[in-house]
Amino acid sequence: MKKVLSLVLVVCLSVTMLCACGSDSKTEAKKESDKTLSMATNAEFPPYEYVDGDKVVGIDVDIAQAIADKLGMKLKVDNINFDSIIPAVTSGKDQIGIAGMTVTEKRKKSVDFTDSYATGVQAVIVKEDSKIKDAADLTKKGANNKIGVQLGTTGDLYCTDDVENAGLGKVEKYNKGADAVQALVSGKIDCVVIDNQPAKEFVKANKGLKILDTAYKEEDYAIALAKDNSELRDKINNALKELKADGTIQKILDKYITAE
Ligand code: GLN
Repeated sequence: MKKVLSLVLVVCLSVTMLCACGSDSKTEAKKESDKTLSMATNAEFPPYEYVDGDKVVGIDVDIAQAIADKLGMKLKVDNINFDSIIPAVTSGKDQIGIAGMTVTEKRKKSVDFTDSYATGVQAVIVKEDSKIKDAADLTKKGANNKIGVQLGTTGDLYCTDDVENAGLGKVEKYNKGADAVQALVSGKIDCVVIDNQPAKEFVKANKGLKILDTAYKEEDYAIALAKDNSELRDKINNALKELKADGTIQKILDKYITAE
């Protein structure tokens, strides 16, 4: 009887220990994921994010790194298609989306945004000898241009609404802004509508192109998060406030954007 009792005791003890270990490693795993800030981005958007060698670098990566440092977290970069960023954030695959992403009412229906950390402008790139002289030419009566955009960006949304749906031309959607620019260079399309900073990089890298003086639209860039993550949003907003106040954000912008 004694033997049976001690056997039962041993079994009970081992089970208790196993359970304890199990839950311990679970807490450890959770703590580990709490310590990593995983950002979804699309490294086709210089100077905000682009690939240099085998690394994703740029303004957004530096800002996310500065935020992660403030929160005592390690930064992980997930480089995916631009139109996969919001799904990655809503599904919890990544905690934040930071990709020169414009705050729009439509996006706000699926994600939350932090405070804005930069502004952008939708610019129009044309060939130097283009008959398109002004952004307003794209939407004037009788216009009939082929406009290149990056799929799922605000440039795509505006042009689809204002031009294609208005019967004023056609919108060609590309996975990468650089592909739209190549289509313009080879004469397949008449212009590209894209954010002004990448526009400048693309014009620098390709001969015979220019950016129109008039812009299409001004916008605010912010970080996207899942809707049920207000704790992280508040932490990031606090970090952003400090990084704006101490000049870090400006310093990062100046590092990548040289005044002309
Ligand atoms: N600002 C634009 C948008 O939010 C483009 C961003 C991008 O291509 N990375 O749609």
